[in-house]
Amino acid sequence: MVTTVLKKKEAVFLMDEIAKIRNIGIIAHIDAGKTTTTERFLFYTGKTYKIGEVDEGTATMDWMDQEKERGITITSAATTCFWKGYKRNIIDTPGHIDIAVEVERSLRVLDGAIGIFCGVSGVQPQSESVWRQSEKYGVPRIIYINKMDRIGADFFKVIKSIEKKLGTSVIVMQIPIGEGSSFEGIIDILEEKAIYYPGKFETESEIKEIPDAFVEIVKKYKEEMIEKVAEVDEKIMEKYIKGEEIKKEELKKGIRKTTLARKFFPIFCGSSLKDKGTMFLLDAIVDYLPSPIDRGEIIGQNPISMEIEKILPLEKHPLSLLIFKVYNDIHLGRISYARIYSGVLKQGERIYNWTRKRKEKVLRILEIHANKYTEIKQAKAGDIVGLIGLKESFTGDTLGIENKPIVFEPIIFPEPVVSVAVEPKIKSEQSKVYEKFLTLTEEDPTVKVKTDSETGQIIVSGMGELHIEVLVERLRREHNLQVKLGKPEVAYRETISTFAKGEGKFIKQTGGKGHYGHVIVKIEPLPKGEKFKFVNMLEGEKIPIEFVPAIEEGIKEAIEVGVFGYPIIDVKVSLIDGSSHSVDSNEVAYRIAATMAFKDAYKKAKPVLLEPIMKIEVTTPEEFLGEVLGDLNARKMKIENVESYGNTKIIKGLIPLRNVFGYTTSLRSLTQGRGSNIIEPLYYEQVPEEELSKIIQTY
Ligand code: GDP
Repeated sequence: MVTTVLKKKEAVFLMDEIAKIRNIGIIAHIDAGKTTTTERFLFYTGKTYKIGEVDEGTATMDWMDQEKERGITITSAATTCFWKGYKRNIIDTPGHIDIAVEVERSLRVLDGAIGIFCGVSGVQPQSESVWRQSEKYGVPRIIYINKMDRIGADFFKVIKSIEKKLGTSVIVMQIPIGEGSSFEGIIDILEEKAIYYPGKFETESEIKEIPDAFVEIVKKYKEEMIEKVAEVDEKIMEKYIKGEEIKKEELKKGIRKTTLARKFFPIFCGSSLKDKGTMFLLDAIVDYLPSPIDRGEIIGQNPISMEIEKILPLEKHPLSLLIFKVYNDIHLGRISYARIYSGVLKQGERIYNWTRKRKEKVLRILEIHANKYTEIKQAKAGDIVGLIGLKESFTGDTLGIENKPIVFEPIIFPEPVVSVAVEPKIKSEQSKVYEKFLTLTEEDPTVKVKTDSETGQIIVSGMGELHIEVLVERLRREHNLQVKLGKPEVAYRETISTFAKGEGKFIKQTGGKGHYGHVIVKIEPLPKGEKFKFVNMLEGEKIPIEFVPAIEEGIKEAIEVGVFGYPIIDVKVSLIDGSSHSVDSNEVAYRIAATMAFKDAYKKAKPVLLEPIMKIEVTTPEEFLGEVLGDLNARKMKIENVESYGNTKIIKGLIPLRNVFGYTTSLRSLTQGRGSNIIEPLYYEQVPEEELSKIIQTY
């Protein structure tokens, strides 16, 4: 185990450089205002000269044509801007669950995030999911309640719903002056000042004394702020108990501390569209969100010694970086988005992919600004950049230098849940369509593509119907390929319910050089979501070590199709025994023997069929509740609760994916077009016995 302690000199150096970087994500439910807010950040930091508007299709961050048309963010766009000497890399992530992969990979490389909530709707289903996702990655967050100008906006009601639904404790940093059409300014509780926005831009704001009507409430929340900070800061606690004055700067430091510890979350408000409050957020990112130093060391593994290592975000340490996205740009070719964790990367440098054990060369380094890039000569620890020149590196890979082996934990992506047969409109374009889909799978690991061995059709799997539609649309626009889509089907998976051993022998000795492969494996279930693990437990030289990769490859081939005809997941395979022949052993023979051994074990390990279970939330006016519930019952929904918001009912629960294809259309007809729903994949579960035979028959 290697641990390095920061020396004083290094710490001083860090304060100057890396401590001034903020890698920030914006997370929210679709439509909460992520893109609108990011556009303000770009404008007020001087990155753009004109504010891009989502509604006019001019948002800089929504650069893909489809995004501008659909008015949603599909790819996570990255950009870099500067504020008060601090460099910030911002990632605007999509809110739609069908594109969850983008959120997952962004959270992995971010240090902090802003959670944006709508001042009217509060905590919406998607904001709840991304909030929990970011908790999983331990990302410190600040909260911004947007759209305070909308009719029905209610700041304190949203705070209550955040506290209740997310189980989050907040520090109220601001209070809106007026709500809805009377929203005209913000009270800064820390500074005890009122800020008004009489002009079109935020830069024209006016600072005034707190209006009389707000004096009492500000006092209450200032007191609460001090009490909460005192919980994490002993010095403040002492002063608080003694009744001594606590200075603003001390309080700020305390708020930073509690935010980084994710104990309390500072909460701000504003209206991005009306240019009120976003500059406060720019300050808050600097004041309260972490730099790469605050996030501290990153855990990795030495792929040779298998020891756990800790990498410090230091420039002078050897280079290490993680690829979190691959994008094939029509003009620039393949761009690998990378977060540099340590060291310095120079243009033209030869580096090493430790995940795939391959040499790579970085031809160009790019600072990213949505779909525009600025070439830079070098990138340092803490930076997020685009790299050109990497040929065989993929999302989740760790790269560095050849004499410092390190692999960071890979990014785990969910399994796709929906499959659709895709047919080119022009028959001769079949292989071109297949190839382009394959390229898209490089960019998006939640997409899978294969050719059906019986029908010869191309089958594309993804996270939902919208996800696949977006891919098909990209094929049409970017490559001029048109396709027809079949009916969406459930992407079933298989797994095992117990452990078993299996043996495979592939021996052909017919005089001369023959084939000899002999493998014994043990297979056992892995926890849900861990997909696949291969372990070499061989002792001694029963099988020469150079054949082990071929054995792993053979097993990976074998798990592609199980006994029900679907891919196998959540299984650990240990190579435990086997034998070899001094002349006839070869890679092909071991690959085949490994496939046979796995299949032998698989049959004995009680395989089961798994299906995607979806979280569903249905909103309906009260008068249709009975019919909607009746229909959901018939679809075997497990109803968890029914909430009331005035005349509106929200039904929440779980449902198998096979029962909700085309649900949006039938809900519309049940509710005269007034009902809406959100469905997202939650996990894979064993198919009930009575359904199994039906599914197998269809297959
Ligand atoms: P995203 O999906 O989270 O990126 O949200 P967008 O930034 O695309 O905004 C969604 C919609 O809300 C657009 O029509 C915006 O104009 C609108 N919007 C965003 N911020 C505000 C705001 O502060 N007030 C009002 N009234 N509308 C807003």
